[in-house]
Amino acid sequence: MAWIKTDPEKMELSDSTSQMIDILKKTEDQCSDISRTYSIGRSTEGRELLVIEFSSSPGEHQLLEPEMKLVGNMHGNEPLGGQLLLYLAQYLCAEYLQGNERIQTLINNTRIHILPSMNPDGYEVAVYGYGNVGRNNAQNIDLNRNFPDLTTVVYRRRRQKGFRTDHIPIPDNYWFESLNAGRQVAPETYAVMKWIRSVPFVLSASFHSGDRMVSYPYDLSKHPRGQNMFSPTPDDKVFKLLARTYADSNTATSGECGSPHDGSQKGVINGAQWGSISGMQDFNYLHSNCFEVTVSLGCDKFPPEEELFLSWQDNQEALIAFIEATHRGIKGFVNDEEGKGIKGARVSVRGIRHDITTDYWRLLTPGIHIVTASAPGYARATKKVHLPTRMQNCLKININIKTCLNDSTAVTASRFHAAIEIPLELTHIKIKHNYYLYLLIDLSINMRHYDKNT
Ligand SMILES: [Zn+2]
Repeated sequence: MAWIKTDPEKMELSDSTSQMIDILKKTEDQCSDISRTYSIGRSTEGRELLVIEFSSSPGEHQLLEPEMKLVGNMHGNEPLGGQLLLYLAQYLCAEYLQGNERIQTLINNTRIHILPSMNPDGYEVAVYGYGNVGRNNAQNIDLNRNFPDLTTVVYRRRRQKGFRTDHIPIPDNYWFESLNAGRQVAPETYAVMKWIRSVPFVLSASFHSGDRMVSYPYDLSKHPRGQNMFSPTPDDKVFKLLARTYADSNTATSGECGSPHDGSQKGVINGAQWGSISGMQDFNYLHSNCFEVTVSLGCDKFPPEEELFLSWQDNQEALIAFIEATHRGIKGFVNDEEGKGIKGARVSVRGIRHDITTDYWRLLTPGIHIVTASAPGYARATKKVHLPTRMQNCLKININIKTCLNDSTAVTASRFHAAIEIPLELTHIKIKHNYYLYLLIDLSINMRHYDKNT
């Protein structure tokens, strides 16, 4: 640690995790109507992983209000992101109170979660200008290489008919194999995974430093030996747009650090093309509804203190513009004939093999899209939507779908679904006779299986 507390234009910086926590708590006190802090867990050495949330109703998911997150300091020796996120929290609070309309609109319509330090133990031992000390957590684990590798699962399945790239479960061997191999799931990784699973995030950014670049999934190369291979997701256009939103609003004049990277375009690059790893952003995209990009903020991993405020000025507009990007695309409910929301309904977009679930938010690029809603036991419903280029706000599209018992795909889907989410099926979907049969069959299979094991 090297930075000391300073007060450029009345904003505070931290030089330790406890100071960081103090600043977050102070901000929460100042803006108690629109913010709250909460812990998502503790680091290996027991430091709090503290989040500050901004929202018009802190602590509550409001229907059709999107949620987004910003994560700093995953590598403890790259603390610039954490510092900027501390500035951001204080800025959001102060500007809201002072009546800044843009910030008020943003907070009134978005739930913003900020985790300034994902790796506080690493941060505590990081020393100004001292190489890789503090990059890993206290167990010497690189957190960005500790998430389940779902990208390989997707690559393995890509030639199978009907393969998907969304909501991929965490393979059992993630927990067991890593233990056998002497590795483990870091408490910081586990806390963030739980967080991703418990909040319906739409958009996210994770902040690093050591270069000036915004990278987007996939992070893992589609070929095991292809170290710098362009490896796009089905949402490549959306990711490019999101990465561009940040890169174009960053006012830092100098470009990349050192020699330019193959495949980068004005500060934006596909993660795998930059260097293949299986990281946190691939996990967000493949396991949840959340789209995450990785922002590398500057050439210096640990810049001198006097450069911090400049860095905040360079990044302030980019941070706000990025949060606003949560509102691109379409949102709505998938309802039944009576206008009731259907839990577990999927929203698909033609040409993009990646579904989103309800109450849905679908980040999309401008243009014409064919959107389909489906749910087990319901007929599909399709709508054509046109998203204009200059779009201020998300287009609201509710899709009504009708119960359909003769649709064989729907019934198959319901069998599959019933086996894993019985309580949801029973409470949210009207169950008619033939469905009920399937439900019973699945239940009995499950019971037998259960008996055998116990
Ligand atoms: Zn890093």
